[in-house]
Amino acid sequence: MFTVRVRFAPSPTGALHIGGLRTALYNYLYARQQGGTFVLRSEDTDQKRYVPGAEEYILESLNWAGITPDEGPGIGGDYGPYRQSERRDTYRKYTQQLLDAGQAYYAFDTEAELEQRRADEKAAGNHTFRYDASTREGMRNSLSLGKEETQRLRDRNTPYVVRLRVDPGQTIHIRDIVRGDVAFQSEEVDDKVLMKADGLPTYHLANVVDDHLMEISHVIRGEEWLPSTALHVLLYRAFGWEKTMPEFAHLPLLLKPNGKGKLSKRDGEKLGIPVFALDFREAGFLPAATINFLAFLGWNPGTEQEIFSLPQLVEAFDLDRINKSGAQYDFEKARWYNQQYLIASADEELAPLVRQQFADHGQSITPAQATRIAGLLKERVHTLDEFYPQGRYLTERVGITDEKMARKKWKPEQRPAFEELRDRLAELPDWEASKIKAATVAFMKERGLSFGAVLPVLRLAVSGTTNGPDAFAILETVGQEETVARLGLGYDVMDSL
Ligand code: GLU
Repeated sequence: MFTVRVRFAPSPTGALHIGGLRTALYNYLYARQQGGTFVLRSEDTDQKRYVPGAEEYILESLNWAGITPDEGPGIGGDYGPYRQSERRDTYRKYTQQLLDAGQAYYAFDTEAELEQRRADEKAAGNHTFRYDASTREGMRNSLSLGKEETQRLRDRNTPYVVRLRVDPGQTIHIRDIVRGDVAFQSEEVDDKVLMKADGLPTYHLANVVDDHLMEISHVIRGEEWLPSTALHVLLYRAFGWEKTMPEFAHLPLLLKPNGKGKLSKRDGEKLGIPVFALDFREAGFLPAATINFLAFLGWNPGTEQEIFSLPQLVEAFDLDRINKSGAQYDFEKARWYNQQYLIASADEELAPLVRQQFADHGQSITPAQATRIAGLLKERVHTLDEFYPQGRYLTERVGITDEKMARKKWKPEQRPAFEELRDRLAELPDWEASKIKAATVAFMKERGLSFGAVLPVLRLAVSGTTNGPDAFAILETVGQEETVARLGLGYDVMDSL
């Protein structure tokens, strides 16, 4: 029976980029939809680029996003180990297999010799030097040196790498699910290093060996790997695995918000937008909104519907509907998605998150307060981190923040009227928005004052500005005693401006 097995294979070289999170998401969606398995594999064989903690960051990101792998490092599975650094013997064995079959060869050229060679070619005005069928005769390798010399060098423990012997004249066809037919000539592929001098495999060898051994059915990855696929096909051929080669789907590039060029890790700081997976959490995004936004960066369902829960995405997702052209990272769209999810969330569901936001600013509020604040503000914010700055006046005194407006709205001669309004509110038996409103309206009528004259003054005294949700809901939330106190203080301040 054919089963879908896909993998997300990041190199733990730093924090997971949103492009990586999108790749993981598409793999997850495809696996879930097909009743298949989603594998996480840590491609950690490049010791120079290894960053401690990066693997944890990746797992934490996937867990936060709700797309946890079925197999992987720290998770387990029948195809482990899932960390390439723990699979050295396997790569050695398969490298030997290629050497024995004459599909790969030892190369003893030192880094200095290679550099010299590159410099010579450059000085002679030739093409950049490539180690391949046309040049390997002039280099120091087991094909040019012969058996005996090779053995002698090996006996003397001369450092070496193992290279793939790429024969010219081969056409490599890749049927990419996203890009359609892509063809390469083997002359375009050089004799890539498979095993480095440190005995560790290169990305290419480990990737192909593992995709084969882990029975990966579909390789879904970023477009930047498309050129490498030619080499990978040659490797499958050299191993005799071409028949069971996975299918490929190369995802479109993520472009900068202005659409000009590839989104880079530096754009985050430059433009003040999240580019690492957990930056979204930090910036107050909900996982479901982030996932929905990411799903649409390179895919669309072909309908007008934009809001998809994770299960709905699983249902609607289709590799055939992935776009070829780059996907522009529109941060405003991400904020829009988050707002839609906030509005659709129950107040009680948001309460713990709102509470956390206040706690992060040293304000301890009750679950009931948090629920109320969530309800009052969720349509006015885009991200969770806006709850505190937009709602702090609901639980603490902030004074008059918009003095300009206060000067405009406060008429000193009306102070006695506002004193009376305060006294009436102080005596109100039921502190409830509709009752507060009724009392205020009755007062306005008696005094012949308009909403426009009264409400801004109430708002300014209680919340410091004239913006915000319904004024009477604000007063109810702030509480009777506190409202009365703030009115008194506010009138004094406005009088003195
Ligand atoms: N280790 C590669 C990366 O970091 C994996 C590419 C692939 O999926 O083949 O993206």
